[in-house]
Amino acid sequence: MRKLLVLFLSFVTVLAVAQGIDANTAAKAITAAGLKEHLSIIASAEMQGRETGTEGERKAAAYLTSQYKKFKLKPGNNGSYSLPFTLYQDKVLSSTLKVNGEPYTLDKDYWVNASSVPQKALNTNAIIFVGNDFNDKSTADVKGKLLVATESKERSMYKIMAAQKLGALGIIIIANNNPSYPSNLTGRLSLKPSTASKFVSMTVSKSLGSRLLGGSKDFSDQELADVPKGVYTTTIDWTAERGNGEVLSADILAVLPSKEKTDEYMFITSHYDHEGIKNGVIYYGADDDGSGTASVVAIAQAFAEASKKGFSPKRNIVFMNVSGEEKGLLGSQYYSEHPVYPLEKTSVDLNIDMVGRIDPTYKGDSMNYVYVIGEDKLSSDLQPITDKVNKNYNMELDRRFNDPKDPNRFYYRSDHYNFAAKGVPVIFYFNGTHADYHKPTDTVEKINFDLMEKRVRIIFETAWEMAMKEEMLKRDLPLNMPGR
Ligand SMILES: [Zn+2]
Repeated sequence: MRKLLVLFLSFVTVLAVAQGIDANTAAKAITAAGLKEHLSIIASAEMQGRETGTEGERKAAAYLTSQYKKFKLKPGNNGSYSLPFTLYQDKVLSSTLKVNGEPYTLDKDYWVNASSVPQKALNTNAIIFVGNDFNDKSTADVKGKLLVATESKERSMYKIMAAQKLGALGIIIIANNNPSYPSNLTGRLSLKPSTASKFVSMTVSKSLGSRLLGGSKDFSDQELADVPKGVYTTTIDWTAERGNGEVLSADILAVLPSKEKTDEYMFITSHYDHEGIKNGVIYYGADDDGSGTASVVAIAQAFAEASKKGFSPKRNIVFMNVSGEEKGLLGSQYYSEHPVYPLEKTSVDLNIDMVGRIDPTYKGDSMNYVYVIGEDKLSSDLQPITDKVNKNYNMELDRRFNDPKDPNRFYYRSDHYNFAAKGVPVIFYFNGTHADYHKPTDTVEKINFDLMEKRVRIIFETAWEMAMKEEMLKRDLPLNMPGR
């Protein structure tokens, strides 16, 4: 009897497992230790901060691909795990500057933004000195004129924007401290080769600034502050040539295929790029967005394990790690403009960007939280699913950043935005910023893996619910955000 009973029980157990493992059980495959293992590789020194288009980023891509292969997930882009794309970066090919007939040297006497170089020549016999308090309320007639300003506590960027807005030809900023980066590193990356800029901006040393303002020797700080505003007769001859450098990068995609709704999809995303090496210092990007990338890998692994135990999603689950986020959400923009799967058949994007830390709002006992952003837009199906899943976890789901008037504008600042802009409902999971945000000190040992485990399990169960939902998420709400 006894033997028979045991046999009977084990038969029942096998049957129950084969017919499906439940989400909460499957989520337990996601562990603090597993997340740490992935993140310790993704945010290691070997990956060199994973800057878009660099060797370090390619190593990270190779690691992600190796994991998806190991989990036996299908390649996401027509037989390949890689969706390659080309980015273009402005370069200064040559630059010759003479002021009152005297020659000056690029990156020694003056610095230019590589995206803001005249395609041919700039010649003028007059400049307008606008001092250090120049802004877009200025009533000076600057239209078509070349301006010179001193650098104040206010960021030079505001002066450049004001000059542009008021229709100036360009602006030269006299630096307090000379820039330490070469001009060729200033050109921004973009998905299309840029055309010649009509507006020029340049930074010059105090010495060259003194010449521009008629000084025969270098002005002291006080003398410079006392220089009257107005028109100065100064001859500037600048010839420059600008070109485009090309940078190759790639998004990484893997799929757990559905046997039912084979033409429907849902996405779980992160960005695997970060800021790379600056002045010889590695920016590890452990939280940003090593944490989201390790999360996507761990979620993919948990789904792959569940599928071995009988789980079968109603629609295809796509795991995507994009590049170029830190350069302006470029990898997700590329995907949204060249989607491998129809966006109108893509039910949702769950985007994970920074989930391993806490921000200064939450300290001590109140660490049990995650910011969930975007649930009140595009689909009324989003929030009830998260709330239902959270009954197992009792985490504080902080929705404060849904406010369109929030000055942080987080809704626009990660890759889900490119899905939302095309009408795909999204949830963005985020821990907020902290003192190590975009600093070389964003490292693995500062990650709270226990908290991260809980957050990632919630995302996994949410994804599970959405994968098993009979219909795609309905698109019944407006985006209701003022635009990027
Ligand atoms: Zn970032």
